[in-house]
Amino acid sequence: MKVVHERKKCLSCGQMFTQQRNTQKFCRVECKKNSRTPEYMKAKRECLVCGKMFSPYRPQQVYCSDKCQQGNYRVINDLPGRLRKQRAEIRGDGSD
Ligand SMILES: [Zn+2]
Ligand SMILES: [Zn+2]
Repeated sequence: MKVVHERKKCLSCGQMFTQQRNTQKFCRVECKKNSRTPEYMKAKRECLVCGKMFSPYRPQQVYCSDKCQQGNYRVINDLPGRLRKQRAEIRGDGSD
């Protein structure tokens, strides 16, 4: 039995390619991955907490990780305490 390799148009980049399997829709693995990647995931963002560049996996994501997100909540909630501590550090050893 002869296997016919059909010429197909890649659904991601539009290039013509020869099918290895008749279910193949993309010319390369990268194209397959790209087709599954939403637009917001392609552009990297800077984490609001640590400043690291990351690829978001949610459209509204502004933190690189859950750790940074949780850390930021704590920072906001504990702001008065932090300010007090900072002032104490500026003054010296905090012994007053
Ligand atoms: Zn392609
Ligand atoms: Zn971060």
